[in-house]
This record gives sequence, structure tokens and C-alpha cells, in this order.
Amino acid sequence: MNTITQLSLQERDKAVNWHPYTQMKTAADAIPIIKGEGVYLYDHEGKKYLDVVSSWWVTLHGHSHPYIAQRVFEQLNTLEQVIFAGFTHEPAVQLSENLLNILPHNQNKVFYSDNGSTAVEVALKMCIQYAHNQGKEKTKIFAFKNAYHGDTFGAMAVSGKSFWTKPFESRLFEVVFIDTPTAENLEDLKIQIGQLADEVACFIFEPLVQGAAGMLMYSAENLDELMQYCRTQEILMIQDEVFTGFGRTGKLFATYYLTEKPDIMCFSKGLTGGTMPMGITTCTHEIYNAFLSDDRHKTLFHGHSFTANPLACAAALASMELLLKEETQMNIKRITQQHSEFIKMISLHPQVENARQIGTILAFDFKTGNGTSYFNEIGKKLYNEFLQRGMIMRPLGNVIYLVPPYCITYEELDFVYQNIIEVLDQFKD
Ligand SMILES: *Cc1c(COP(=O)(O)O)cnc(C)c1O
Repeated sequence: MNTITQLSLQERDKAVNWHPYTQMKTAADAIPIIKGEGVYLYDHEGKKYLDVVSSWWVTLHGHSHPYIAQRVFEQLNTLEQVIFAGFTHEPAVQLSENLLNILPHNQNKVFYSDNGSTAVEVALKMCIQYAHNQGKEKTKIFAFKNAYHGDTFGAMAVSGKSFWTKPFESRLFEVVFIDTPTAENLEDLKIQIGQLADEVACFIFEPLVQGAAGMLMYSAENLDELMQYCRTQEILMIQDEVFTGFGRTGKLFATYYLTEKPDIMCFSKGLTGGTMPMGITTCTHEIYNAFLSDDRHKTLFHGHSFTANPLACAAALASMELLLKEETQMNIKRITQQHSEFIKMISLHPQVENARQIGTILAFDFKTGNGTSYFNEIGKKLYNEFLQRGMIMRPLGNVIYLVPPYCITYEELDFVYQNIIEVLDQFKD
């Protein structure tokens, strides 16, 4: 036992842990983080890193936020967990009330789970069983090419196909992938959708930004028109706001860029301010009502051990309170403004293509002029370069993006911009 304590944390980690999205053979040792505060994470040697990616897009108000910590601690001392079948508790009721208050009015019921992928699984099940409960079997689902909805099987099935999903492809259910709407292809898309409308259980999409695909952005106007068409065809719509929710796009939810509203919405990531894992699927009365019956077979048979965990609910309540504060809303506006100034400048850089922004999300392509393998190589190089400069950035291929916590100051964000410019200059051909 003694020898074990003498190993470094990195060595002990390597001996026992398998990291996500990581080729363990070639990966560098994981960096031990011992403390988080505001936008910074601190490693075991006292080096600090500015968390430009909000720790995989989850952190809203900074790390170890004292108010969220206090609320979770109070909850921990009162009720840490209770079975959510047959029982309920104040934090879950309050959170559902507060969330529905800030969602479009057609969202009426809240179903809890553990993460973004499970929020999507629940949404898909709701749509498929919605039809089933009415004696219909709808076999097809629409999704966008390049979509990302999570890593569980249902979520993988509705995600764009890549080498991530390759080993499982033969086991994924049938999904019809369509292009994201543009002014040019909109009419074609409608025809494509119209032809299959009767067989379609639902249409699932990431509104306005396809995050994991590389922060690909598309117009609200065109999406709105596509959604309106789906409405006329009575196709259920699932809006996956797992990433875009809670202020990322500059509005509370991406849905507020759209006039047509979805039937179902999915949330996670920023839901608890990035403190605790939690997923939520909300739906309309119409969907909910299709499961009400004296026939037990019409029940939604889905649940997780930690459904509506009180600690996660407490974190979400505290985070949403912080989010709605004037100060936070001003920060979101300021980041949005600051990004738009930076975009103007960075667009002129010879290494930069397709600079784009929506709210607090900023992205651009690093011009490589070369094939795909080089993309991955450059991503890794950039990652390491930023890391050395004390910034956590994780380029998606050759896409460099910023998704900062809202507490980032003017100076801190400027520090990030300056470093990006220096790194780009350094990589000039
Ligand atoms: C991250 C993400 C998911 C999956 O969430 P997990 O909590 O990682 O399972 C689903 N949809 C979108 C749009 C996401 O960005």
C-alpha cells in the first residue's frame, strides 16, 4: 500500500482511469486540477488555466460558485436523495415551476433525468410512444446531418454519422438525415419532409448552432420556416437546447429567436450552472395527455435511480437565480458585444475563415488548405499551445471556439483574444 501513495496523481490516474473521448495509448497524462474559482482552474503545481470552454460547455457562473455551493450544502443537510416514483420534494416542484416560467408557454410538463443524452432518449421515447398510444407506428425520425445529440444509443442514432459512431452503425435505428435549412434548399427540404410526413415520429434538431459538429451556425429565419412547415404536417418537434440553453446564444433559450415553438425541449449542461449532472425533458399538454389512460400500457416506462435528485435541483435553482440577475444578463450582453468587435478584427486575419458568432458563442475555422488528417493534427497543436499559455481551448478539428463562463471579465476575455492572435500569427505559413 505504501508504494501506491508515493505515485503521482497522474500515475495513479493512468493505472485506474479510462478518460472520455481519449485514445489512452497516445494521450498525454491528464492534468490534475486541485481547485476551481471563477473562470480559473488550478493544477497541482499552482499553474492556473482560464476555462474558455466552460469545462465542456457546462459552467455558467464560474467554478465553485459560493452561492450554488451554499444552496447545495443546505440541501445536502436536509434531503440528499429520495425515490421520485410515488414521492416528491420542494426543490423538484420549485425547479419545474421556475423553469416552465421562463420557457415558451406551450411547455407544460417536466421529466427529469441525468444528462443531455438521457434527456434526448426521453424525448425520443415520448414521440415514438405518443404515436403508439394512439394506435400508430411511426418508424421514421428526421434529424440534421452533422447533428450531435449525445452518446447513448438513441442519441447516437439521431446524431450525424462519423468515426465516433462507426462501430455501432448496424445497431442504430433508422433516421432520415436532412441538410440544415438555407434560403436555397428550403423548398426541397419541405418536399422531402412532406413525402414522409405520415411515417415520421418526430424531427429532432439543435437550434441555430450545431455545437459538437464544430459550432456550425444556421439562420433562425430558415429554421422557423422549416418548423412552421413541420407544424402543418403535424410532425412533432424536439428542440435540443442541451448546449444552447440558459443564455449561451444571448437569449435565455435559442427558442426565443424563433416564432414557431417545439413540442418537446431538452436541457442539461448549463442547467445546474455546471455544478451537478442533471437532464430535463419538457413537453406540451398534448404529449402528456396522450399517456393518460386507465390502460397501464400507455404509461411512460422510463426512469433513472437519481431522477430529480434534490441536490441537482438545488444547484439548478441557485444557478437559474444567478442567471436571471441583472448583473449576469449585463455580462452576457457585454460578452456578446465584445465578441462582435473581435469578430470584425479576426475575420481579416489570413489564417481565419468563416468567423461566426451567436451571443456568447464565437467560432472560426483555422485555414489549413490541407486534408482532414492535418485538421486533427493542427487541433492538437493549437490545444497544446493554448494550454501552455494558461488557457483551456479544445479546437474541434480546425475549428477554434470560445464558450466562456458569463463571469469572465472584459480584461480576461481580452487576454484570450490577444493570445489567439499571437497563436495564429505563430502558425502563419
Ligand atoms: C452535449 C450535448 C448532448 C449530450 O449531453 P451529455 O450530457 O454529454 O450526455 C446532447 N445534445 C447536445 C446539443 C449537446 O451539445
